[in-house]
Formats: sequence, structure tokens, C-alpha cells
Amino acid sequence: MLAATEVSKLRFIMTPPIDLARTMTIQIPALEWVNNSNGYRKLIDGVTQTISPHACNGPLASDLDMEGVRPNEMHWTPLLQLKGLDPRVRKLRDVFAGLYFMNGQDPFRCLTLTLLTQNKTAERARTAFCELSRRFGSITPQTLCEAHPHEILPALQRCGPHRKAGYLISMARALMQQWNGDMSWVYDEPHRAREVLLSLPGVGPKTADCVLLYAAGHEIVPVDTHIERVARRLGFIERGAIRRGLDVNVEEIRGSNRSKDLAKEALEHELVHPGRSHLLLIQHGFEFCHATAPACFPCPIREECTSIDNRYKSTLNLSSRQQ
Ligand code: SF4
Repeated sequence: MLAATEVSKLRFIMTPPIDLARTMTIQIPALEWVNNSNGYRKLIDGVTQTISPHACNGPLASDLDMEGVRPNEMHWTPLLQLKGLDPRVRKLRDVFAGLYFMNGQDPFRCLTLTLLTQNKTAERARTAFCELSRRFGSITPQTLCEAHPHEILPALQRCGPHRKAGYLISMARALMQQWNGDMSWVYDEPHRAREVLLSLPGVGPKTADCVLLYAAGHEIVPVDTHIERVARRLGFIERGAIRRGLDVNVEEIRGSNRSKDLAKEALEHELVHPGRSHLLLIQHGFEFCHATAPACFPCPIREECTSIDNRYKSTLNLSSRQQ
């Protein structure tokens, strides 16, 4: 008979190989995992789960050792499998070849983590969530609805503690009162599920859409300032507005909620797998298309971009093609 530790240790063969660092950087379910010397760990329902690369080739790992992770919790899909993509998104898919999309996260954990990321960096949200898990064991509507703000506040240091502690408790209470803590409705028709999510305290459009994408797997695009910026620079917003006959000046509304709504509509209309594809656009914004000083020179899709920094146009001899 196998020992308990051997039973819980799994080996996942990743096909294609996974870029664990990129996969664990941006998407909401990844923020449950904390980096340690051998890989990543997370605390879930009082049990520590670990992931460590077994066989590596540069930044890519073809095997992962996992302890405490149940096979039905592994909902990781390689984005390299996506087909029929917009040419620029396809290029990004090939550049970020080891990026995996995570979904199937518990809806309430996803909701809690996304709330923590509001106006905060991913790293601050990661730290706060890790501390919440340590204090409460299980992050569920049942545990948080009975919490006092003073039990939550110390975990949320540097993460908007007072407002967010109140939202977490109110959210948990609303879910308990209306659905007895059950959130299985997020898997139903996405527009109806979105309405319910938006009715919860502290939940805005981006938070609702993250739950629909990362927990329920609906092909929805959560839009924040980063994805709005990339969508605008790549012309999605302008094309969407023209297609719908809207008279808007894209530069004048940049960064506004109106611009975010247009970005969401355009990306969900144009992209074949909008939810999963949008992860490639976020990664692109993170590594190349920064808010200030975009890295246009090494950008892998600079030849297809009409917003390329003027300084590079002559160097790259792109001006005639892009006028
Ligand atoms: S060329 Fe510059 S502005 Fe255009 S997508 Fe690349 S980094 Fe962004």
C-alpha cells in the first residue's frame, strides 16, 4: 500500500511545456499561489498544496510535481492550442508559447481575490489573500459572513483594508441570505449571472467578469485600464465604434468607462476566444505595451500596430506602410 504522501503526490505532464513564471503572474486564479524557493504553494481549506517544476528547459517546464492538489482542481489550458485567432493575437500566442489559462476556480475565492486586486497590484492582492487563508482556513461565504471587520483588517494591510473588509463581509452575508452560500448560478447563462454578481456589494463590471471567466469559464473579457489601453492602441475600439456607427473620438475618451465598454464590446465581437485571448493581450501590455513608454522597438506586433511610437517609425521603415 502507498504511503499518504505518495498518494497525494502527482506528476502532471504539461503538453506543450508550461512557462510557470508567466502563467503565475497575472490571471486571478494564479494569485492564490505564492512563490517559494522550489515553485509555488497555496493554502486551501487548511491544506497546503505545492507545485514544483520537475523537468525544465530554460523557462519552460514539461513536468510539474504537485502535492496536495486534486486532479479535478487542474483546469489549466495551454493558450498555444487556440486556433483561428486574429493575426496579432496569434503572434502573441506564439511569443508567450508557455502561457496556460487557469479556470475552474471556486467562485467565492475568485470573487474575493478579484475584489482584493481592485486598484491594487497583483502582488498586494496575493499577499492579502494568503494571509486571509491563513487566518480563516477556508475562504467561503459561511466563514466570512460571521467575521468581524477587525478579524479581516490585519490581513488586508496595504490592500484598501477598511472598505474592502466591509465589502467582503457584506458580500458573504448577501450570498448566505439569498443563496445559502451556493454560487452555482455563475455557471448558468452569463448575462443573468452577471446581473446577480453586479448586485453584490463592492462588485463592479471587471470583478463580475473575472468570476464569469476564471470560475465559470465563460468567454467574457474583463476590462481594466491595461486591456483598454492595448485594445485602443491596436485599433479594436475604433473599429468597434465604426462598425456600430458611433461618433466617438477614441483619444478623447481614453481611459474612461465609456472607452472600457467599447473595448469590451469590440474584443468580445472580434476575437474568436475572447476570454482566453484577452490573457495574451494583458501579458502583452505587461511586457511590451506599457502605459508610459511602450517598448515599441522589441514589440513582436509592431508591424501591425498603427500606434507605434513615432520615434521608431523611421528606424523600422514602417511609416509608408502605416500611413
Ligand atoms: S508597437 Fe508599441 S504601441 Fe504598438 S502594440 Fe507594440 S508596444 Fe504597443
